[in-house]
Amino acid sequence: MPATIVLGTQWGDEGKGKAVDYLADGMDFVVRYQGGNNAGHTVIAEGRLLKLQLIPSGVLYPHITPVIADGVVIDPRHLLRELDDLRGTGVDVSRLQVSGNCHLIMPYHLELEKVTQRFLGHNALGTTKRGIGPAYADKAARIGLRVQDLFDQKIFREKLEIVLREKNAILTKLYGRLPLDGDVIVDEYMDLAGRLEPYVADTSTLLHRALRDGKSVMLEGAQGTLLDLDKGTYPFVTSSNPVAAAACIGAGVGPKDIDEVWGVSKAYSTRVGAGPFPSEIEGDLADHLRDRGGEYGTTTGRPRRIGWIDLIALRYAARINSLTALVLTKLDVLSGMERIPVCTGYRSQEGAELDHFPYHQSVLHHATPTLVELPGWEEDIGEARREEDLPEAARAYLDFVARFVGVPIALVGVGPGRDQVIWTEVTAPAAG
Ligand code: GDP
Repeated sequence: MPATIVLGTQWGDEGKGKAVDYLADGMDFVVRYQGGNNAGHTVIAEGRLLKLQLIPSGVLYPHITPVIADGVVIDPRHLLRELDDLRGTGVDVSRLQVSGNCHLIMPYHLELEKVTQRFLGHNALGTTKRGIGPAYADKAARIGLRVQDLFDQKIFREKLEIVLREKNAILTKLYGRLPLDGDVIVDEYMDLAGRLEPYVADTSTLLHRALRDGKSVMLEGAQGTLLDLDKGTYPFVTSSNPVAAAACIGAGVGPKDIDEVWGVSKAYSTRVGAGPFPSEIEGDLADHLRDRGGEYGTTTGRPRRIGWIDLIALRYAARINSLTALVLTKLDVLSGMERIPVCTGYRSQEGAELDHFPYHQSVLHHATPTLVELPGWEEDIGEARREEDLPEAARAYLDFVARFVGVPIALVGVGPGRDQVIWTEVTAPAAG
């Protein structure tokens, strides 16, 4: 029975929250498979605005079991705060299942990220400084502590003492900071352990049984394909793998369990922070789209960089993720433009025409976009609910994207409201 992956195809902020929320109705399980509390969606519960960063928004639906699977890194203090906030608004959080294999974000991860990013100066990546990158680094170095370690104080203390010796040496000798006290950490984390225990489970087995019993499972990616640690624009990437293949690892299901992979893309592009962005634009038009689309960081308020939809990058995302459908959000933001440029190729610094996403960082850095201008439309499309309600030019725009990328468009966003979507059947006869 169906397991569906929903992920971002660009640099995050594609409007995945809404797509996930929309599809959640038909799901039994909604699963986070990577990242940490650096994601984030805003949900409204009991009239209160809540910012969830770790817990899948599926928690709001009584019929859904929300799962935080193996591939996620967890700051237990943060997770318990989110649970308290949800509980405070009357949401039943008892169904949440957290994998015992998740790696823990420890106090020294936050401390180290702060000082190392400062140390890097203008080369800093502009991370969220929540200890996520350092926690993943320790996982790869095999010195990470996991959720399951919380339930054996002796093991927890032993592992902590070994790792803390090195971390404190770095903090004190390299960065001139105060050392962290292992006893304080043990006391704090043992206290948190008691509160987390009811939610901890073998989530891989849970999902395996769910699929065997014909339940619907949605695997929800955070960030986006071009921020993937391996497949994104390294080093300007996140510290985990949002791509579809990683959903299997992160959730503990096999590739054959996946039926659908839905890729969410904006009708244009945005990027936060540094890194290559070939279809970027600046000036009045960028400012206009930024304001119209509300393209400012959710927590930082930082203006996002703006560009045209990059069909080369999108085709790359389609290939990397085996996309079966596209969700195109924020089409309404493009209303009122006479012509809409779309990026259909790159030109390298040497003048070569590229029809694919270059693997080499320097090539991508210097690539300029080849743009095709499609006719725009004047009408406000916020009220459109069926494909036929859209202006001819908007339909032609969707058709062009689907054909070029070679993936059908299943859902289109025409406004921020929950109901401002259109189920479409824009097919993709042949990849360009
Ligand atoms: P995520 O980071 O990819 O999960 O993105 P979010 O779900 O946080 O969406 C970012 C913002 O875009 C939210 O404020 C949404 O309400 C808004 N949004 C989503 N879809 C649309 C759309 O089709 N049109 C417009 N105008 N806004 C949208």
